[in-house]
Amino acid sequence: MESADVEIIADADPGRPYTSLGSIRVRIATGYVTNNSRNVESVNAKLRKVAFRKKANAVIGVQYERGRFLGTWKTLTVTGTAVVADTADRECPACGKPIKWDATVCRFCGHAVERVKPLPEPTDRSEGWQPDPSGRHPERYYDGLQWTVWVREEPGAPRAEDPPWI
Ligand SMILES: [Zn+2]
Repeated sequence: MESADVEIIADADPGRPYTSLGSIRVRIATGYVTNNSRNVESVNAKLRKVAFRKKANAVIGVQYERGRFLGTWKTLTVTGTAVVADTADRECPACGKPIKWDATVCRFCGHAVERVKPLPEPTDRSEGWQPDPSGRHPERYYDGLQWTVWVREEPGAPRAEDPPWI
C-alpha cells in the first residue's frame, strides 16, 4: 500500500465497516493553474499523502471548497475524514472465499450469510453511552464520531467488546 492507493470517497458512509482516524483538511493555491481537473488531482494527491501518514486507507465524506487567500490567490480546500475501512470483501464462513460485505448469499457455494452493515448513526451524536442500535446489548459507547466496539450490560458494569456492525 502506498499513498496513491488511499481511496477518496465522497459519501460519508463507505458502505462497509470502518474506523475513523479524525478529520483532515488540505488546501492548495490554484492562482497559477487554470486547468480545473488538474487542481482537483493535485489537492487529492496531497489529501492522500496526509491520510497515508495517519495510516488511513481511505478518506470519506470528501468535500471541496473554493476560496481566496489574502484577497489575491485562489485556493482549493478539501476536507474529509481519514478512516481505516475494512477491505471490500469478507470471507464466506462456509467455503472461505471472498464475498461482498452486503452479500446475503455466497456467490461461490450458495451458503446463506448474515448481512453485515455499520450501525446507523444515533440521533444524538454527543459522546457517551447510548442504547445499542444493534440490539445485542443494552448500551454501546458512541465516541462523538462513530459507534465503538465498547458495550456494557448496565451503568457501572465492566465494558465488553462487540463489533459495531449489524
Ligand atoms: Zn461460500
